[in-house]
Amino acid sequence: MGKLQGKVALVTGSSRGIGRGIACRLARDGALVAVHYSTNEGAGKETVRLIEAAGGHAFLVRAELGAPEAISELFAQLEPELLTRTGTVRLDILVNNAAHAGFTGTMPEDVTPEMFDRHIAVNTKAPFYLTLRALSSMTSGGRIINISSGMTRTSLPSQICYAMSKGAMEQITLQLALHIAPRGITINTVAPGVTNNGDPVFDDPDTVAEMSAWSAFNRVGEVSDVADVVAFVASEDARWITGSYIDASGGTLL
Ligand code: NAP
Repeated sequence: MGKLQGKVALVTGSSRGIGRGIACRLARDGALVAVHYSTNEGAGKETVRLIEAAGGHAFLVRAELGAPEAISELFAQLEPELLTRTGTVRLDILVNNAAHAGFTGTMPEDVTPEMFDRHIAVNTKAPFYLTLRALSSMTSGGRIINISSGMTRTSLPSQICYAMSKGAMEQITLQLALHIAPRGITINTVAPGVTNNGDPVFDDPDTVAEMSAWSAFNRVGEVSDVADVVAFVASEDARWITGSYIDASGGTLL
């Protein structure tokens, strides 16, 4: 029996990339997974198909995080589906993975209020309110996992918006950890480094070689490198870890 048998997980942004890898891994461990997407329905369906083809269980939910009412829209889809499938609306695992990664190369002086607001809305505000909403459906043993980025540990001025929004997300982890510990629920940050999410940039050998050099292991991360860490944090084995920043970047920029 898988370590997550009987558990229910919601993985935001699991239509593609790292989120898809996390959804597939949690499902492989036995969880029923709500696969969330924003615009790319075909990719979301493909994640569900991959999970089911491997013998797992999943269904699709859609919401554009950052938009007004996104969280209530998401739960309006999630809860009836959970009631039908499990008989309750209990959620055990929330992975806040979806992100706006506007890697614009914009220097701090050129950051527009719109750019700033978009990053904060999707990467900070949405996970904060989604976490609060999810907590109302969680019981002891619940897990919140926030996917940040190794970029919060280095200075890269051209990515200031993204790094600020992820740094704030790490504070959600830290500040909520004590608040929810009495309920037996943990919250942690997992921070990937450069990870092959299927973007065409990973088809360019020169760029990949350059990015590989940032890791102590001289390669870029694979989705499974991150998903395996998330699966551990989601499991009962990680019951004694909360409020932590867990580096899953292959020793990036050590
Ligand atoms: P990705 O391949 O670009 O996929 C992004 C996912 O988020 C998609 O499922 C997308 O849905 C969803 N999404 C984007 N904006 C959304 C919004 N406003 N509302 C709802 N869903 C939205 O991402 P990734 O590279 O795998 O990154 C996953 C996580 O890891 C992110 O938190 C990212 O910051 C972090 N990270 C990634 C890397 C890396 O090198 N890949 C490095 C460090 C940290 P649709 O398919 O519907 O568009």
